[in-house]
Amino acid sequence: MGNTTRQIRGLPIYWTDSQWVTHSCVCAEAVPGIFLVWTDCGRDVPANAAKTAEPGDSVSCAKCLGAANVRR
Ligand SMILES: [Zn+2]
Repeated sequence: MGNTTRQIRGLPIYWTDSQWVTHSCVCAEAVPGIFLVWTDCGRDVPANAAKTAEPGDSVSCAKCLGAANVRR
């Protein structure tokens, strides 16, 4: 696995699940051009579902908030 990142173009990566819970995410480039994304609470994020944070977004997943160094 290559380098992981928590940001894309300077913005944190968030994912809102079907329960409208917003998670903070980690992204890794598995092979060139192929990115894997998962949440700080350990869930896999569906392809293309993750997005960068927009103004007003905040993480609402308690497990993600409890994980390392989530900035709010
Ligand atoms: Zn979470």
